Amino acid sequence: MSLHDPGLRSFIEIPADSDFSIHNLPYGVFKPAFGGAPRIGVAIGDQVLDLSVLAERKLLAGDELGVGSVLQLATLNAFMALGRPAWREVRAKLQRLLRHDEPALRDDAGLRTAAFHPLRQVEMQLPAAIGDYTDFYSSREHATNVGVMLRGADNALQPNWLHLPVGYHGRASSVVVSGTEIRRPLGQMKPPEAEHPVFGPTRLLDFELEMGFFVGPGNELGTAVPIEQAAEHIFGMVLVNDWSARDIQAWEYVPLGPFLAKSFATSISPWVVTMEALEPFRCAGPAQDDPEPLRYLRNPGPAAFDIELEVLLQTRAMAAPQRIAASNFRYLYWSVLQQLAHHASGGCNLRPGDLLASGTISGPEKHQRGSMLELAWRGSEPITLASGEQRAFLADGDTVILRGHGERDGVRVGFGEVRGTVLPARLNGAAQAAEARV
Ligand code: CA
Repeated sequence: MSLHDPGLRSFIEIPADSDFSIHNLPYGVFKPAFGGAPRIGVAIGDQVLDLSVLAERKLLAGDELGVGSVLQLATLNAFMALGRPAWREVRAKLQRLLRHDEPALRDDAGLRTAAFHPLRQVEMQLPAAIGDYTDFYSSREHATNVGVMLRGADNALQPNWLHLPVGYHGRASSVVVSGTEIRRPLGQMKPPEAEHPVFGPTRLLDFELEMGFFVGPGNELGTAVPIEQAAEHIFGMVLVNDWSARDIQAWEYVPLGPFLAKSFATSISPWVVTMEALEPFRCAGPAQDDPEPLRYLRNPGPAAFDIELEVLLQTRAMAAPQRIAASNFRYLYWSVLQQLAHHASGGCNLRPGDLLASGTISGPEKHQRGSMLELAWRGSEPITLASGEQRAFLADGDTVILRGHGERDGVRVGFGEVRGTVLPARLNGAAQAAEARV
């Protein structure tokens, strides 16, 4: 079976540079402009196709797989739980319904009116109820850059780093959908020159260019997922901006790792691109022969994905966003399969709708660094923007936009974007008192 048929086209007009081609069909949850309950849709071109309408009319079939009922819910968790056979069946049905030469939807004006919404007019929601959020640290370049800044070039990577995908349990309650404004967090920090710690708004607010995947079928508590089966447990991927407060982080992270420096907000793109849609972009990742991972962590085959990523920044003074970094998901040292297999290897039960993020994805080149911390090298090399402004970290009013897509043989599969604008800190009494003392 060919991975994708470049001749496949839709009766919906789709520009060649659209992320949402008929080869993509990402899933999301949206509220229509006329109101009503959130429902599941797929994005195609500049339209959203309401799957609850198609399911109600039994156009998606697969009832023996339980597909019809779960696609009428307000989150994707139950669909994620069904597993690959159901995902493949719905994808095939949708591609057939949307083909240029298939009349069932194309020639039914009433059905089209009921089922299609202009993408620009809908309000996107989180795609799933996220029970748990885990963040890895899987880019060798990012870990090395941060290690050099903190410990020097000789001890940049910790001894465990090349043997396991380092990660931590994040906070699911503050994962927000693209467009949500980000309040500058307050926290405790100890500036290098200060004798005592202070409490107040972070001065070193940062973004992190990441991708994350949603868990499909879970595993029972106390059982592992062999890496050969890990792909069966991965539904699809989104862009992730793991906002970070570097001064709070530097003070609090010893010895247990990130806490409040990360938990104030994590933004994700609203459209979940399935692993079926990403299959044409699967490729080999970085070599893992020195050292070779332990057996339970060896990739069964090529496990990286060639997905171009970019970071754009727009300050209040700028009329348009400016690209400040470009990277690629294939630079990631530890694959999604390794992350999932490692996470479950101790017997931790993963559940449908859990979000596992990659960690900052930096590449080997300077312009491929996926955070302000690295781009401006801990504040020592501020970047100059087209507006003439300089940035070492994020200022209030700054908007950060992450984008990503794969493209091959004229077929484009993209993620759209995840964006967030920084709002000034909300000062409470304690913070004002602490600030006044500084
Ligand atoms: Ca992170």
